[in-house]
Amino acid sequence: MPELPEVETVCRYLSLQLPGALVLGATLRRADLRYPIPTRAVQALEGHRLSAVRRRAKYLLLDFEPAATALIHLGMSGRLFTTPPTPDWQLHEHWRLHLRSEAGLLDLRYVDARRFGCLDILRQDAKVEHPLLAVLGPEPLGPGFSAAELLRQTRGRQAPIKAWLMDSHRVVGVGNIYASEACFRARVHPLRAVTDLDLQDCQRLVASVRAVLEDAIAAGGSTLRDFVGGDAKPGYFQQQLAVYGRGGEPCQACGAPIERSVLGTRATYCCPNCQL
Ligand SMILES: [Zn+2]
Repeated sequence: MPELPEVETVCRYLSLQLPGALVLGATLRRADLRYPIPTRAVQALEGHRLSAVRRRAKYLLLDFEPAATALIHLGMSGRLFTTPPTPDWQLHEHWRLHLRSEAGLLDLRYVDARRFGCLDILRQDAKVEHPLLAVLGPEPLGPGFSAAELLRQTRGRQAPIKAWLMDSHRVVGVGNIYASEACFRARVHPLRAVTDLDLQDCQRLVASVRAVLEDAIAAGGSTLRDFVGGDAKPGYFQQQLAVYGRGGEPCQACGAPIERSVLGTRATYCCPNCQL
């Protein structure tokens, strides 16, 4: 499943190619993904100019002049990429935007076998935020996610630390793997209650969440050239993981066996010696 670092990588890849491009038209092969697609609003992008590509949580936001924004989510298996125009459609390809950029004609294509993704169009002058965005907590790499805020919000709360980090109302984009890895780097046990965190724990945790995500984004950045080189399959990159998926293996720091447990329905990994 595409996680925040993968979506950030796609965002950077598209930011290199799309701004300035004129929309020549759209082709939709179905009227819904996870939610209905506003087909007329998508068709009405014709004649608009794409001005920016942004990311909020795991949503991609494509801004168009004069006044529209496309909201795109990759769901469980979505891929968004560009190629020169071609009459051939891939299996599970659901929509295309036909563009003319400085580099020539270009199709922005969306392929999604499981169809949990979404495509919606918002008006830029809308007074209210899109309901899918309005419920989101702060960005983990932004100033809204801080040790002081984390300490303040967690007083008296009994949720396990890992569950808190994975709750998108608290902070967005910290998936199961990244939550396990961040707890290991911060040397906090993922199943401890959040109210037990002190300021130093919060500082280490915030720094670790950021470091884990930034490392993953950097790993994605190293494959960016392949994306831009016209490879239509931006394979989601693997990161070096210290604990995730390593149950029973020796901890890199102390040699104790990594413990695997299940929190909710999700596998959790930690070193019982290093993480208190
Ligand atoms: Zn250890």
